[in-house]
Amino acid sequence: MKEDFCIECRKNREYKIIKTPYRKKIRGKTYKFSLSSAICQYCGAEMDVDGIIDLKIKEYDEQYRQFENLVSIDEIKTLFNLYNIGQAPLSLALGFGEVTISRYLIGCFPSKTHSNVIRSALKSPSFMKSQLEKNKSKLTNSAYRKAYHTACELEKIFSFSDKLRSTIARLFNNLSEITPLALQKLLYFCQGYSLAIGSAPIFPEDCEAWPHGPVYQEIYHLFKSFKYNPIDDDRFIILNNSKDALSDREKQIIDLISATFGAYSGKTLETITHSEDPWKNTPLNSIIKKSLIKKYYKSVNQKYDLATESGTNKYIKAKLKG
Ligand SMILES: [Zn+2]
Repeated sequence: MKEDFCIECRKNREYKIIKTPYRKKIRGKTYKFSLSSAICQYCGAEMDVDGIIDLKIKEYDEQYRQFENLVSIDEIKTLFNLYNIGQAPLSLALGFGEVTISRYLIGCFPSKTHSNVIRSALKSPSFMKSQLEKNKSKLTNSAYRKAYHTACELEKIFSFSDKLRSTIARLFNNLSEITPLALQKLLYFCQGYSLAIGSAPIFPEDCEAWPHGPVYQEIYHLFKSFKYNPIDDDRFIILNNSKDALSDREKQIIDLISATFGAYSGKTLETITHSEDPWKNTPLNSIIKKSLIKKYYKSVNQKYDLATESGTNKYIKAKLKG
């Protein structure tokens, strides 16, 4: 246990950090906060230990935002990184005053209306584009062009089917580290399993037989610049905020793929897809037909019980042994 000076005991005492209730009236409404306090383990007095004030301020801030469902400072920071725009032009583009965003960043609470505008921009690049157009005259040409271009790039995330977008978001959430090549293979396995176990694909998009294995071309181009830890990428918020279009059965398949194939590197997964019929029997750079994928995984499913983790792991081991 830690020690610090207790002013009641007049000597160093052990203390414990506990959450204490705290009521405060803000604009006529009473809120119940739960804030950390350092309590002397000898006399029970509250102690003023290092960092406790900062911690309380942070908790107070976060809890008030939760009560009122207001955006957090981190979400606002994500917003200007996301659209490649400075604080002042972002403020103007959203239709706020020039210094409004910088005020929110130092801890002023945003109004409900402003908070909702910020949320919409975090969710939808199309909304951001319309805001930029509406307030174009208030922005410098270069700020406008940069942010508009970035919003157009982000909009491409919405050019895929809802199912494919939701599959990617779920894979990213399940696996904190994932390379662009591994992502391609995992999408392919999800699709193969869904065709074999359920008989329908999860998403309508087709993949092509590239030298590195099955690739969903558009996805590859869009996500190759994502960070190694996609959930740390500012753009992840767009994926994660969009609606989840998956059925429970589809989620189960994606989680199974994450728990099994997800443990291997893109290179190892490539060894597996290179030894499978659908990729081997498709000319390079052509579409791998869903019927081929279905036929292949149906036959694998008869030999290995693919719907279980143990069956899938047996299949992976067999493939890697060659
Ligand atoms: Zn004391």
